[in-house]
Amino acid sequence: MNCIFCKIAKKEIPSEKIYENDKVFCFLDINPVSKGHTLVISKKHYENIFDIPENELKELISVVKKISKKRKKELNADGINLFNANGKIAEQSVSHFHIHIIPRYKNDGINISKMFKQK
Ligand code: AMP
Ligand code: ZN
Repeated sequence: MNCIFCKIAKKEIPSEKIYENDKVFCFLDINPVSKGHTLVISKKHYENIFDIPENELKELISVVKKISKKRKKELNADGINLFNANGKIAEQSVSHFHIHIIPRYKNDGINISKMFKQK
């Protein structure tokens, strides 16, 4: 399978690793939305929320919590947004399940609320 995140998890292509355990791998996003933008992936290939088994998702989300806390402190961020896309229509661009950890800073110019604005 030609999956870029599988290759990153297997260290066949380089990434800026933040953390790993036997099931989960975390690395910096190559095109960061904010300083410290991190991706958390399962080492096994699952395409999206619809096919990742619940036990694997639980392991992954506990890493998301741990790394969110650690990175907030290390980067002196003021908050964190979590983001996850499933399917082309939801703008998932890499078909290997991942959660974005997006550190937020005062006056970082990111406007999440725009996305949720009522019409
Ligand atoms: P999504 O659009 O939610 O599927 O997110 C995919 C993310 O993967 C994007 O934010 C990309 O910048 C990031 N990305 C793609 N290729 C790489 C790579 N080789 N190393 C690190 N991040 C990557
Ligand atoms: Zn993969």
